[in-house]
Amino acid sequence: MTGEIVRVLIVDDRPENLLALESILEGMPLNIHKALSGNEALGLLLSNDFALVLMDVQMPDMDGYETAELMRGSERTRAIPIIFITAISKKEKNIFRGYEAGAVDFLFKPVDPEILISKVKVFTSLYRQKATIQKQLADLTEYRKKLEEAVEKSRKLMREAEQANTAKSAFLANMSHEIRTPLNAIIGMAELLGETRLSKEQTQYVRVFNSAGENLLALINDILDLSKVEAGHIVIETTEFSLEAVLLSVCDTLSLKAHGKNLELNSRITPGTVIGRIGDPTRLRQILLNLASNAIKFTSAGEVSMSVSDQPSGKLLFEVSDTGIGIPPDKLDLIFESFEQADSSTTRKFGGTGLGLAISRRLVELMGGSIKVDSTEGEGSTFSFAVDIPEDPEYSPDEVSEDDVIDLRGIEILIVDDSATN
Ligand code: ADP
Repeated sequence: MTGEIVRVLIVDDRPENLLALESILEGMPLNIHKALSGNEALGLLLSNDFALVLMDVQMPDMDGYETAELMRGSERTRAIPIIFITAISKKEKNIFRGYEAGAVDFLFKPVDPEILISKVKVFTSLYRQKATIQKQLADLTEYRKKLEEAVEKSRKLMREAEQANTAKSAFLANMSHEIRTPLNAIIGMAELLGETRLSKEQTQYVRVFNSAGENLLALINDILDLSKVEAGHIVIETTEFSLEAVLLSVCDTLSLKAHGKNLELNSRITPGTVIGRIGDPTRLRQILLNLASNAIKFTSAGEVSMSVSDQPSGKLLFEVSDTGIGIPPDKLDLIFESFEQADSSTTRKFGGTGLGLAISRRLVELMGGSIKVDSTEGEGSTFSFAVDIPEDPEYSPDEVSEDDVIDLRGIEILIVDDSATN
């Protein structure tokens, strides 16, 4: 509308006056319409949008003021400015005081072309500005409508997300109960079974059975508690425990899995390391279990080894190494984030949630350390963390001496058994 040529209506009962006015306005970018009477003018005004009306006051039948009065009565024409062209004295303009402010002006005969042109310019430019503002207003209204729709939509999404979250919590609480109940039965029965007369082999089976159950229970608890871990609400316990027992329990739990893939799984406590410690064995086992089961998961040949050693700094250093697929350099930081995996195709192949390392990292941090990984694609990875787990002064001096460790590296050993699993 703004760039359009605007329409101006000239009303005069004398054709020669119409022509005279038209010729004055000739050079302006206007679309000029002419009417020889008030009635004709009203007819044109009904079917066109005009920026301005130039109206002779003295006309037979209906004069300029009457025509203007009728224009005022209609919504469509009420706001169109009028310049009256009159021979009557200036006082007369009071007659039309009632007309919309600023929308009316007077020119006196004989019309001065320069004044006419400048007045027409003012009114048409006002018209253009008004059109621009109306357009902007319409755009704004439209924009506002869209904004309100977007706000409403995001409110709806938020409500849905809240509902989903509530449903998820309820689901987790239910599942927690549903999973724990049979799991407790399994663990309890394994314990009872362990108390009956069993062969050495059976005892070993039951032990694996039992500790796998315990670990599964701990794992379920931790997955359910992920929000707690994320929110930093987990408290690290301080109880006396044996490092050896923790490592053995991890190995026990994972040995079948490792041997099922023909992988060697070993753990090593560096000689001189104090076994008795004060800390949180459940969380420590959880971290090691996460790292070692990942190591097994992402390794198809070779070995997975865990080691622990006292550091000069006073911290205890744990390392879990594998000879597996490795991790691309650009994914090394990412994998410690929740639900992140180095390669989504591995999930399809190996399973997993992408939570293990996120939980492990938080737990290591809570134990006063940090976790890191060194990896070479195609060769393997080593996850390591050094944490504050003080020595237990009360613990019987069961430290591993050089003599207790038999170094089997480089030695070839033949094992004969009729069971492949063994
Ligand atoms: P999940 O194993 O359930 O996918 P994690 O948080 O334990 O979740 O591990 C995240 C990702 O880190 C894995 O999906 C894998 O891409 C990568 N990753 C972890 N450990 C290893 C490893 N030992 N070797 C190769 N990639 C690994």
